[in-house]
Amino acid sequence: MHAYEVQAKVIKALAHPVRLRILDILREEEQCVCHITAVLGLRQPYVSQQLAILRAAGLVSARKEGLNIYYRVEDERVLALMDLVQNLVRDRVERAGGIFALPPPIGPPPSCSCPKCRARRRGKKRPKKGWRKSNA
Ligand SMILES: [Zn+2]
Repeated sequence: MHAYEVQAKVIKALAHPVRLRILDILREEEQCVCHITAVLGLRQPYVSQQLAILRAAGLVSARKEGLNIYYRVEDERVLALMDLVQNLVRDRVERAGGIFALPPPIGPPPSCSCPKCRARRRGKKRPKKGWRKSNA
């Protein structure tokens, strides 16, 4: 039974809409907790709780950089598993004559203040008036 118990632990960790969405947010690259929180529009303690469940199941790993904790998908096969479930649901819905709507693509929210989004914005925008560049 032990092997089934371990498998059930992984499936239980996946069996939550917010946790599935978190894994989708981490699909392309690692993200910090503040970015995940901003994308989800949920409270940070709640998001951290969901990340802890994913981490305990070995689905994500974390690393600390300065004040930020970055999470990434531990094994990409979990994303393939999510795609498989999505296809299974789509086929079932379409066989019943329904339309399966894919979740909207997840982009960084314009208000996100995580280091990656700030760097992206700095790369796109010219420095604001009064902005002092440290190496200028
Ligand atoms: Zn961000």
